[in-house]
Amino acid sequence: MDFITLKGAKVPVLGLGTWQADGGECYRAVLQGLALGYRHIDTAQIYGNEAEVGEGIKDSGVKRADIWLTTKVWTDSFTKDLLAPSVEKSLQKLGTDHVDLLLLHWPQPAVPLEESIQALLAVQQAGKAKHIGVSNFNTAQMEQAQKLAGGKLITNQVEYHPFLNQNKVLAAAHEQGMFVTAYSPLARGLVVENAVIHKIAAEREKTPAQITLRWAIQSGGQQGVVAIPKTVTPERLAENLDIFSFKLSDTEMADINLLRGNKRLVLPRLEHWDSILEA
Ligand code: NAP
Repeated sequence: MDFITLKGAKVPVLGLGTWQADGGECYRAVLQGLALGYRHIDTAQIYGNEAEVGEGIKDSGVKRADIWLTTKVWTDSFTKDLLAPSVEKSLQKLGTDHVDLLLLHWPQPAVPLEESIQALLAVQQAGKAKHIGVSNFNTAQMEQAQKLAGGKLITNQVEYHPFLNQNKVLAAAHEQGMFVTAYSPLARGLVVENAVIHKIAAEREKTPAQITLRWAIQSGGQQGVVAIPKTVTPERLAENLDIFSFKLSDTEMADINLLRGNKRLVLPRLEHWDSILEA
């Protein structure tokens, strides 16, 4: 496993995503993932599976201190009165007294950003979240949030895969002293059908998912990118983790970089996204 170290955080660059992993399926994926060597789990209040994530962690026997655990506050709890209590509920479900990373899940125009950031900082100061960040923020929102947080945000979690050009967000995150966390890094499974990725996979005797995840973590350059692929399939859990014994060449990276376009899979028509033409 490789790590990104930033502002006192040591983040495993590959984590296990859990969106749409429900109930027993989620519990088993977390349990099996931890047994295989995953040490980073990504969940959210809105996924409805924090309790199963917590059970999986508890039953795994892996020390809590050895796991990087992220959850995200849903947009209905962004006010100063609601944010901290919502985190308490999350912690109870997760069976822990802190998360390693707490994110604002989406921008919420109905609540002043300053209020949400202050509430996030208060939770951090109380020791309930070791680190804080945002998700789905465009570059302007990210810069504003980082300013309000006095530089304490460590990441912006955004859609990031070979078919979406996120150069602008990546560069802005680095400028703001943040790393990018890549969600939907397998383009929700679409990468397995791509000819360029297939060719590199065949030459390397790897799978398309492994080539894609390797591309993602290498694509951040020195500062890196964290990727959080989701799977509830035992063989894929092992497959997705097995990306640390090889590196892609500059040519292979460039070939995959050429695929980057405008294929946004999560809320593509939302108006606030950065234009990829400026990327
Ligand atoms: P993803 O990880 O790109 O893709 C998941 C899909 O790919 C699932 O259908 C999975 O199927 C399949 N898959 C996994 N490994 C595979 C492999 N080796 N070969 C072929 N198919 C494979 O998409 P995602 O779930 O959207 O994103 C990952 C995580 O990012 C989420 O789970 C969540 O934690 C986070 N996320 C955050 C946000 C946000 O707003 N912050 C939004 C979206 C996602 P099986 O599970 O059936 O194996």
